[in-house]
Amino acid sequence: MRPGRVHVAICIRLSEPNGNELSRAAAWVIAVRGACAIRRPVCATREPCSGTISVVLRSLSSLVAPPLCSLCGASCDPARALCAGCERRLSRLRPARSVLPGGLEVVSAAPYEDVAQEIVRRLKFASRLALAEVAAERMVRAWGASRSGWLVPVPAATARARARGFDDAAMLAQLIARECPDARIMECLARDDGPRQVGRTRAERKADPPRVRLSHRSRALPVGAVWLVDDVVTTGSTLTACASLLRRGGVERVRALTFARADS
Ligand SMILES: [Zn+2]
Repeated sequence: MRPGRVHVAICIRLSEPNGNELSRAAAWVIAVRGACAIRRPVCATREPCSGTISVVLRSLSSLVAPPLCSLCGASCDPARALCAGCERRLSRLRPARSVLPGGLEVVSAAPYEDVAQEIVRRLKFASRLALAEVAAERMVRAWGASRSGWLVPVPAATARARARGFDDAAMLAQLIARECPDARIMECLARDDGPRQVGRTRAERKADPPRVRLSHRSRALPVGAVWLVDDVVTTGSTLTACASLLRRGGVERVRALTFARADS
């Protein structure tokens, strides 16, 4: 979601003929909170932001309109995107390591079920950007002790990323790098527009994997340990295609870090 869309929504809300002063105040609170949620993960310069002003504004806004859980709508701590109940349910989902048929090692923060599935869906399809912080936090924990190397976001198809207004894998990589000083990001992959993976069977996905290529913006490939970053791995065809491309370019060790892992 681009900030401009939020501003449009605010103008519509403020121009409602039946809006009283309280609803107008609430609209401004929503505006401030919305701006915080957007600007904190990815600022205008695509660099990690300090978030200090965001935290203060979110705390102030909570005095007027209590913050709600991004999943179930229950009241929650202004500093958190999830309520205590959803946090507990997420904590019960354990991280796991797996190896894809092509040999790619994948570290995932949670199985693709329950609240983890909802987080992926609402982040990707409802633009609940605050959930990216929840997912990234879990991914950092699952990553283990090393927490270093190159983070290469799995590219989204250009048209779909443009339609959504953000690239969730790139956003996750930025949030992870913000917490891990020894991790650096290189967006060296691109993806041509093709059939949507969502809704396709596993056989269809494997038979027609996404068409990934090196980005024309990338002049070199990362040297050393590389971690592909994505929100969810299902068949692994996208991750495998990205890893193969990097290996052909000379990258020796490629692994993957995802928020969720669907059973294959
Ligand atoms: Zn909740």
